[in-house]
Amino acid sequence: MKKAAILGERLAGLVDAPDPQPKDDWAVVKVHAAPMCTEYKQFVGGGKTEFLGHEAVGEVVAIAQPCKVKVGDRVVVQPCYPCGKCALCIAGDYIHCQHGINVAAFTGSREGTATYAQYLIKPSWLLSPIPDGVPYDKAGLAICGLGPTCGAFEAMGLCAFDTALITGLGPVGLGGVVNSLFRGARVIAVDSAPWRIDRAKQMGAEHVLDPTDPDIVAKIKDLTDGRGVDCSLDCSGTVQAERLCLDATRRKGKVAYVGECGADFAIRISPDLIRTGITIYGSWHYNLNLYPKVMQVIQQSPVVDLLISHVLPMSKVQEAFELCTTQDRAKVILKPWE
Ligand SMILES: [Zn+2]
Ligand SMILES: [Zn+2]
Repeated sequence: MKKAAILGERLAGLVDAPDPQPKDDWAVVKVHAAPMCTEYKQFVGGGKTEFLGHEAVGEVVAIAQPCKVKVGDRVVVQPCYPCGKCALCIAGDYIHCQHGINVAAFTGSREGTATYAQYLIKPSWLLSPIPDGVPYDKAGLAICGLGPTCGAFEAMGLCAFDTALITGLGPVGLGGVVNSLFRGARVIAVDSAPWRIDRAKQMGAEHVLDPTDPDIVAKIKDLTDGRGVDCSLDCSGTVQAERLCLDATRRKGKVAYVGECGADFAIRISPDLIRTGITIYGSWHYNLNLYPKVMQVIQQSPVVDLLISHVLPMSKVQEAFELCTTQDRAKVILKPWE
């Protein structure tokens, strides 16, 4: 099979690899669409690798024994290789599993773990069925496009009574706009990149504010009768926005953090939490039991198509990566067979 690889700093191309084989209840999936995510950071950094990606959708083409899927099933491939046995996995919170499977030890090769590839392998319980009529490219939004923010809004109970603040309008933040609007909430977003601002407004965000505006907290309060927003969601992974989410949320409101960030962020327990009564959530992906709701957003949201900005053949992976380094895009989808 063909798969994509990072060959050097800002250099990507295709390489040949052996086709993965099914084993036990692990199925082989022919990848029809691989949504691109954070891998561009490695492309910029030049960390060479032949194992790229964690998002894919496709068709089951081989199984080794009766399992939860059959040949011909169209599936969303859930990320990671969790154990499937611990309390978190059984509860659907497999993304937090601490006993990830060593694929190379299990199959004898790491082959089949990349999603920027024509085939992959996955335990069948992590292959979620795609309803008839949902095209592969759109079904791919059930991973990082809509997933993390759907999980966060479900945890916060966002609904039509609420105003949501969303900071950072990359593909995940724009997915947050789609999810908020689907739940009937009013959206105030924050970003400074012109393409992203336009896209969020096209989707239906009521206001998009500039994060560098020194009066941004006061402006958000003005837009919410002086109270602050009901729910805030950071998708930027910047300390400045993490602080804004706390400062712009109303008393007894909720704040969720989705944007990855390793930097220190100072929380003052009394003024930030005890006096405000704010609840804070960390949200990585979503509980697997939420999958039908994620799929419902994909099927019914009138603006979900705006979350995909580009679809490129995997043969143009260099061009696709270069696009991903810009802010002029939403979700970019790779087609491994083109
Ligand atoms: Zn587990
Ligand atoms: Zn992702």
